[in-house]
Amino acid sequence: MYDIQDYQEALTLSEAAETLARNPRMRIIAGGTDLLIKLHGGQIEAAELLSIRKIEALSHIEKMPDGAIGIGPLATFTQITQDPVIKTDIPILAEAAVSMGGPQIRNIATIGGNVCNGATSADSASSLLALEAELTLISSRGTRVLPISEFYLGPGKVDLRAGELLTEIRILPQHYVGFGGHYIKFAMRKAMDIATLGVAVLCKLETGNILAEVKIGLGVAGPTPLRCLEAEAYAAGKVISMDVLNEVGRLAIRSAKARTSWRASKEYREHLIQELVPRALREAIVQAGGGEIA
Ligand SMILES: Cc1cc2nc3c(=O)[nH]c(=O)nc-3n(C[C@H](O)[C@H](O)[C@H](O)COP(=O)(O)OP(=O)(O)OC[C@H]3O[C@@H](n4cnc5c(N)ncnc54)[C@H](O)[C@@H]3O)c2cc1C
Repeated sequence: MYDIQDYQEALTLSEAAETLARNPRMRIIAGGTDLLIKLHGGQIEAAELLSIRKIEALSHIEKMPDGAIGIGPLATFTQITQDPVIKTDIPILAEAAVSMGGPQIRNIATIGGNVCNGATSADSASSLLALEAELTLISSRGTRVLPISEFYLGPGKVDLRAGELLTEIRILPQHYVGFGGHYIKFAMRKAMDIATLGVAVLCKLETGNILAEVKIGLGVAGPTPLRCLEAEAYAAGKVISMDVLNEVGRLAIRSAKARTSWRASKEYREHLIQELVPRALREAIVQAGGGEIA
Protein backbone atom coordinates (compact mmCIF):
# COMPACT_ATOMS: atom_id res chain seq x y z
CA MET A 1 0.00 0.00 0.00
CA TYR A 2 2.78 2.43 0.97
CA ASP A 3 5.89 1.24 -0.89
CA ILE A 4 8.48 2.56 1.59
CA GLN A 5 11.96 0.96 1.32
CA ASP A 6 13.76 3.12 3.86
CA TYR A 7 12.83 5.72 6.47
CA GLN A 8 15.29 7.86 8.40
CA GLU A 9 14.93 10.85 10.71
CA ALA A 10 17.34 13.78 10.83
CA LEU A 11 17.72 15.71 14.08
CA THR A 12 19.83 18.56 12.72
CA LEU A 13 20.19 20.45 9.46
CA SER A 14 23.73 19.21 8.86
CA GLU A 15 22.61 15.63 9.47
CA ALA A 16 19.84 16.09 6.89
CA ALA A 17 22.22 17.63 4.33
CA GLU A 18 24.80 14.84 4.85
CA THR A 19 22.18 12.08 4.58
CA LEU A 20 20.84 13.60 1.34
CA ALA A 21 24.38 13.94 -0.04
CA ARG A 22 25.11 10.26 0.71
CA ASN A 23 21.83 9.10 -0.83
CA PRO A 24 20.41 11.41 -3.53
CA ARG A 25 17.41 9.07 -3.95
CA MET A 26 16.08 10.05 -0.53
CA ARG A 27 12.96 12.20 -0.51
CA ILE A 28 12.25 14.67 2.22
CA ILE A 29 9.03 14.13 4.15
CA ALA A 30 7.61 16.92 6.34
CA GLY A 31 3.88 16.62 7.12
CA GLY A 32 3.45 13.94 4.46
CA THR A 33 0.02 15.24 3.35
CA ASP A 34 1.12 15.43 -0.29
CA LEU A 35 3.82 12.78 -0.32
CA LEU A 36 1.82 10.01 1.36
CA ILE A 37 -1.10 10.60 -1.04
CA LYS A 38 1.31 10.09 -3.96
CA LEU A 39 2.76 6.97 -2.33
CA HIS A 40 -0.70 5.61 -1.67
CA GLY A 41 -1.69 6.30 -5.28
CA GLY A 42 1.38 4.50 -6.63
CA GLN A 43 2.88 7.68 -8.16
CA ILE A 44 6.01 7.03 -6.09
CA GLU A 45 7.47 3.56 -5.73
CA ALA A 46 10.20 2.13 -3.49
CA ALA A 47 10.38 5.38 -1.54
CA GLU A 48 13.36 6.20 0.61
CA LEU A 49 12.22 8.88 3.02
CA LEU A 50 14.11 11.34 5.18
CA SER A 51 11.92 12.94 7.82
CA ILE A 52 12.90 16.47 8.82
CA ARG A 53 10.10 16.90 11.35
CA LYS A 54 12.40 16.65 14.38
CA ILE A 55 14.71 19.47 13.24
CA GLU A 56 13.61 22.13 15.71
CA ALA A 57 15.45 24.93 13.87
CA LEU A 58 12.99 24.64 10.95
CA SER A 59 9.73 25.52 12.75
CA HIS A 60 10.41 29.16 13.60
CA ILE A 61 8.45 32.24 12.63
CA GLU A 62 10.37 35.35 13.62
CA LYS A 63 10.88 39.00 12.82
CA MET A 64 14.55 39.98 12.56
CA PRO A 65 15.93 43.33 13.77
CA ASP A 66 15.99 44.57 10.13
CA GLY A 67 12.25 43.85 9.79
CA ALA A 68 12.63 40.74 7.62
CA ILE A 69 10.23 37.93 8.53
CA GLY A 70 11.69 34.43 8.52
CA ILE A 71 9.38 31.43 8.31
CA GLY A 72 10.77 27.93 8.85
CA PRO A 73 9.54 25.38 6.31
CA LEU A 74 8.14 23.19 9.10
CA ALA A 75 5.78 25.92 10.28
CA THR A 76 2.33 24.34 9.98
CA PHE A 77 -0.66 26.14 8.54
CA THR A 78 -2.23 26.23 12.02
CA GLN A 79 0.92 27.92 13.34
CA ILE A 80 0.78 30.45 10.48
CA THR A 81 -2.88 31.30 11.06
CA GLN A 82 -2.18 31.94 14.76
CA ASP A 83 1.22 33.59 14.73
CA PRO A 84 1.18 37.23 15.96
CA VAL A 85 3.91 38.40 13.52
CA ILE A 86 2.08 36.92 10.54
CA LYS A 87 -1.30 38.25 11.71
CA THR A 88 0.07 41.76 12.27
CA ASP A 89 2.60 42.22 9.48
CA ILE A 90 1.55 39.91 6.65
CA PRO A 91 -2.10 39.02 7.37
CA ILE A 92 -2.59 38.03 3.71
CA LEU A 93 -0.58 34.88 4.45
CA ALA A 94 -2.79 34.09 7.47
CA GLU A 95 -5.85 34.52 5.21
CA ALA A 96 -4.35 32.09 2.70
CA ALA A 97 -3.39 29.63 5.45
CA VAL A 98 -6.83 29.51 7.03
CA SER A 99 -8.40 28.81 3.63
CA MET A 100 -6.28 25.68 3.30
CA GLY A 101 -7.68 22.19 3.96
CA GLY A 102 -9.47 21.56 7.27
CA PRO A 103 -8.18 21.78 10.86
CA GLN A 104 -6.59 18.30 10.83
CA ILE A 105 -4.66 19.02 7.61
CA ARG A 106 -3.65 22.51 8.80
CA ASN A 107 -2.27 20.94 12.01
CA ILE A 108 0.15 18.70 10.12
CA ALA A 109 0.73 20.28 6.67
CA THR A 110 3.75 22.58 6.45
CA ILE A 111 4.33 25.70 4.41
CA GLY A 112 7.62 24.25 3.13
CA GLY A 113 5.81 21.19 1.81
CA ASN A 114 3.18 23.42 0.20
CA VAL A 115 5.87 25.39 -1.66
CA CYS A 116 8.17 22.45 -2.54
CA ASN A 117 5.32 20.28 -3.82
CA GLY A 118 5.12 22.79 -6.70
CA ALA A 119 1.34 22.69 -7.20
CA THR A 120 -0.17 25.73 -8.91
CA SER A 121 -3.12 25.40 -6.50
CA ALA A 122 -0.95 25.70 -3.37
CA ASP A 123 -2.79 28.20 -1.20
CA SER A 124 0.35 29.83 0.18
CA ALA A 125 1.98 30.32 -3.22
CA SER A 126 0.12 33.32 -4.66
CA SER A 127 0.52 35.31 -1.41
CA LEU A 128 4.21 34.41 -1.17
CA LEU A 129 4.66 35.52 -4.80
CA ALA A 130 2.93 38.85 -4.13
CA LEU A 131 5.12 39.23 -1.01
CA GLU A 132 8.21 38.53 -3.18
CA ALA A 133 9.42 35.88 -0.73
CA GLU A 134 13.00 34.62 -0.89
CA LEU A 135 13.77 30.94 -0.38
CA THR A 136 16.91 29.69 1.35
CA LEU A 137 18.00 26.28 0.06
CA ILE A 138 20.86 24.35 1.60
CA SER A 139 22.80 21.24 0.68
CA SER A 140 26.21 19.78 1.51
CA ARG A 141 27.51 22.02 -1.33
CA GLY A 142 26.40 25.28 0.33
CA THR A 143 23.50 27.75 0.41
CA ARG A 144 21.41 29.31 -2.37
CA VAL A 145 18.90 32.13 -1.97
CA LEU A 146 16.28 32.29 -4.69
CA PRO A 147 13.28 34.59 -5.32
CA ILE A 148 10.14 32.45 -5.20
CA SER A 149 9.25 33.68 -8.71
CA GLU A 150 12.25 31.66 -10.02
CA PHE A 151 11.47 28.55 -7.99
CA TYR A 152 8.46 27.31 -9.98
CA LEU A 153 9.57 25.60 -13.19
CA GLY A 154 6.43 23.75 -14.31
CA PRO A 155 3.49 21.73 -12.99
CA GLY A 156 4.77 20.02 -9.83
CA LYS A 157 8.33 20.99 -10.78
CA VAL A 158 10.47 23.31 -8.68
CA ASP A 159 14.11 24.38 -8.73
CA LEU A 160 15.18 22.06 -5.93
CA ARG A 161 18.49 20.47 -6.86
CA ALA A 162 19.75 17.05 -5.78
CA GLY A 163 20.42 16.98 -2.05
CA GLU A 164 18.85 20.41 -1.37
CA LEU A 165 16.31 21.28 1.26
CA LEU A 166 14.35 24.44 1.89
CA THR A 167 15.35 25.94 5.23
CA GLU A 168 13.63 29.33 5.28
CA ILE A 169 11.06 31.49 3.55
CA ARG A 170 12.02 35.13 4.06
CA ILE A 171 9.95 38.25 3.43
CA LEU A 172 11.86 41.51 3.35
CA PRO A 173 10.35 44.67 4.88
CA GLN A 174 10.29 46.60 1.57
CA HIS A 175 7.88 43.96 0.26
CA TYR A 176 5.29 44.17 3.06
CA VAL A 177 5.66 47.37 5.15
CA GLY A 178 2.90 49.85 4.22
CA PHE A 179 1.03 47.34 2.04
CA GLY A 180 -2.54 46.21 2.56
CA GLY A 181 -3.54 42.86 1.13
CA HIS A 182 -6.30 40.37 0.52
CA TYR A 183 -6.45 36.71 -0.57
CA ILE A 184 -9.48 35.19 -2.26
CA LYS A 185 -9.72 31.45 -2.71
CA PHE A 186 -12.41 30.53 -5.19
CA ALA A 187 -13.42 26.89 -4.82
CA MET A 188 -16.53 24.84 -5.39
CA ARG A 189 -16.92 24.26 -1.64
CA LYS A 190 -16.40 26.69 1.23
CA ALA A 191 -13.91 24.39 2.96
CA MET A 192 -11.81 21.30 2.26
CA ASP A 193 -11.47 22.01 -1.44
CA ILE A 194 -8.62 22.78 -3.79
CA ALA A 195 -8.76 26.27 -5.35
CA THR A 196 -10.31 26.76 -8.77
CA LEU A 197 -8.50 30.10 -8.60
CA GLY A 198 -6.41 31.77 -5.90
CA VAL A 199 -5.97 35.55 -6.00
CA ALA A 200 -3.54 37.44 -3.74
CA VAL A 201 -3.32 41.21 -4.07
CA LEU A 202 -1.13 43.64 -2.16
CA CYS A 203 -1.18 47.39 -2.61
CA LYS A 204 0.41 50.51 -1.24
CA LEU A 205 -1.24 53.93 -1.42
CA GLU A 206 -0.01 57.45 -1.98
CA THR A 207 -1.99 60.35 -0.44
CA GLY A 208 -4.92 58.01 0.20
CA ASN A 209 -6.37 57.76 -3.32
CA ILE A 210 -3.44 56.92 -5.60
CA LEU A 211 -2.15 53.40 -6.12
CA ALA A 212 1.58 53.65 -5.49
CA GLU A 213 2.25 49.93 -6.02
CA VAL A 214 0.12 46.87 -6.71
CA LYS A 215 1.31 43.25 -6.65
CA ILE A 216 -0.88 40.42 -7.90
CA GLY A 217 -0.21 36.69 -7.42
CA LEU A 218 -2.48 34.10 -9.01
CA GLY A 219 -2.78 30.37 -8.37
CA VAL A 220 -4.36 27.90 -10.83
CA ALA A 221 -4.25 30.56 -13.56
CA GLY A 222 -1.44 28.67 -15.28
CA PRO A 223 0.81 25.63 -14.81
CA THR A 224 2.64 27.44 -12.00
CA PRO A 225 1.62 30.24 -9.62
CA LEU A 226 2.31 33.54 -11.39
CA ARG A 227 2.51 37.35 -11.06
CA CYS A 228 0.51 39.75 -13.25
CA LEU A 229 3.24 42.23 -14.12
CA GLU A 230 1.39 44.04 -16.92
CA ALA A 231 -1.63 44.75 -14.71
CA GLU A 232 0.70 45.81 -11.88
CA ALA A 233 2.59 48.26 -14.14
CA TYR A 234 -0.71 49.75 -15.38
CA ALA A 235 -2.00 50.25 -11.82
CA ALA A 236 1.06 52.09 -10.47
CA GLY A 237 0.34 55.82 -10.12
CA LYS A 238 -3.36 55.62 -11.05
CA VAL A 239 -6.05 57.49 -9.13
CA ILE A 240 -8.33 54.85 -7.59
CA SER A 241 -11.62 54.31 -9.37
CA MET A 242 -13.78 51.32 -10.27
CA ASP A 243 -12.75 51.79 -13.93
CA VAL A 244 -9.07 51.46 -12.99
CA LEU A 245 -9.74 48.38 -10.87
CA ASN A 246 -11.70 46.74 -13.70
CA GLU A 247 -8.89 47.47 -16.15
CA VAL A 248 -6.41 45.87 -13.72
CA GLY A 249 -8.63 42.77 -13.74
CA ARG A 250 -8.79 42.76 -17.55
CA LEU A 251 -5.01 43.12 -17.87
CA ALA A 252 -4.39 40.39 -15.29
CA ILE A 253 -5.87 37.87 -17.74
CA ARG A 254 -3.01 38.61 -20.15
CA SER A 255 -0.45 37.20 -17.70
CA ALA A 256 -2.55 34.11 -17.03
CA LYS A 257 -2.13 30.85 -18.91
CA ALA A 258 -5.42 29.35 -17.79
CA ARG A 259 -6.43 25.98 -19.15
CA THR A 260 -9.50 23.81 -19.05
CA SER A 261 -9.53 21.08 -16.41
CA TRP A 262 -12.30 19.02 -14.85
CA ARG A 263 -12.67 21.77 -12.22
CA ALA A 264 -13.30 24.67 -14.64
CA SER A 265 -12.92 25.76 -18.25
CA LYS A 266 -10.24 28.20 -19.40
CA GLU A 267 -12.96 30.78 -20.16
CA TYR A 268 -14.52 30.42 -16.69
CA ARG A 269 -11.11 30.82 -15.01
CA GLU A 270 -10.46 33.97 -17.06
CA HIS A 271 -13.86 35.30 -16.07
CA LEU A 272 -12.95 34.64 -12.42
CA ILE A 273 -9.65 36.51 -12.82
CA GLN A 274 -11.46 39.55 -14.27
CA GLU A 275 -13.98 39.51 -11.41
CA LEU A 276 -11.82 38.54 -8.44
CA VAL A 277 -8.67 40.59 -9.05
CA PRO A 278 -10.62 43.91 -8.74
CA ARG A 279 -12.51 42.50 -5.75
CA ALA A 280 -9.27 41.55 -3.96
CA LEU A 281 -7.68 44.90 -4.89
CA ARG A 282 -10.70 46.77 -3.53
CA GLU A 283 -10.30 45.06 -0.15
CA ALA A 284 -6.50 45.47 -0.25
CA ILE A 285 -7.03 49.24 -0.68
CA VAL A 286 -9.18 49.31 2.47
CA GLN A 287 -6.53 47.27 4.33
CA ALA A 288 -3.89 49.76 3.15
CA GLY A 289 -5.85 52.63 4.73
CA GLY A 290 -7.88 53.80 1.73
CA GLY A 291 -11.63 54.23 1.62
CA GLU A 292 -14.36 52.09 0.16
CA ILE A 293 -14.81 52.67 -3.57
CA ALA A 294 -18.27 53.66 -4.66
C1 LIG B 1 -7.31 16.29 2.59
C2 LIG B 1 -6.28 17.25 2.02
C3 LIG B 1 -6.67 18.56 1.78
C4 LIG B 1 -5.75 19.47 1.26
N1 LIG B 1 -6.16 20.76 1.04
C5 LIG B 1 -5.28 21.65 0.54
C6 LIG B 1 -5.69 23.01 0.31
O1 LIG B 1 -6.85 23.40 0.53
N2 LIG B 1 -4.76 23.87 -0.18
C7 LIG B 1 -3.48 23.48 -0.45
O2 LIG B 1 -2.67 24.33 -0.88
N3 LIG B 1 -3.06 22.21 -0.25
C8 LIG B 1 -3.93 21.29 0.22
N4 LIG B 1 -3.53 19.99 0.42
C9 LIG B 1 -2.17 19.59 0.03
C10 LIG B 1 -1.12 19.55 1.17
O3 LIG B 1 -1.72 19.39 2.44
C11 LIG B 1 -0.22 20.81 1.19
O4 LIG B 1 0.41 21.01 -0.04
C12 LIG B 1 0.81 20.76 2.34
O5 LIG B 1 1.23 22.08 2.64
C13 LIG B 1 2.03 19.91 2.07
O6 LIG B 1 2.88 20.00 3.20
P1 LIG B 1 3.47 18.69 3.88
O7 LIG B 1 4.30 19.15 5.02
O8 LIG B 1 2.43 17.71 4.18
O9 LIG B 1 4.41 18.18 2.67
P2 LIG B 1 4.96 16.73 2.36
O10 LIG B 1 3.86 15.88 1.82
O11 LIG B 1 5.75 16.19 3.48
O12 LIG B 1 5.96 17.12 1.17
C14 LIG B 1 5.49 17.66 -0.06
C15 LIG B 1 6.68 17.80 -1.03
O13 LIG B 1 7.58 18.80 -0.59
C16 LIG B 1 8.88 18.26 -0.34
N5 LIG B 1 9.37 18.94 0.85
C17 LIG B 1 8.71 19.14 2.02
N6 LIG B 1 9.43 19.92 2.84
C18 LIG B 1 10.57 20.22 2.18
C19 LIG B 1 11.73 21.00 2.51
N7 LIG B 1 11.84 21.67 3.68
N8 LIG B 1 12.72 21.10 1.59
C20 LIG B 1 12.62 20.46 0.39
N9 LIG B 1 11.56 19.72 0.03
C21 LIG B 1 10.54 19.60 0.92
C22 LIG B 1 8.68 16.75 -0.18
O14 LIG B 1 9.82 16.01 -0.55
C23 LIG B 1 7.52 16.52 -1.14
O15 LIG B 1 7.98 16.43 -2.47
C24 LIG B 1 -4.43 19.05 0.96
C25 LIG B 1 -4.04 17.73 1.21
C26 LIG B 1 -4.95 16.83 1.74
C27 LIG B 1 -4.52 15.43 2.01
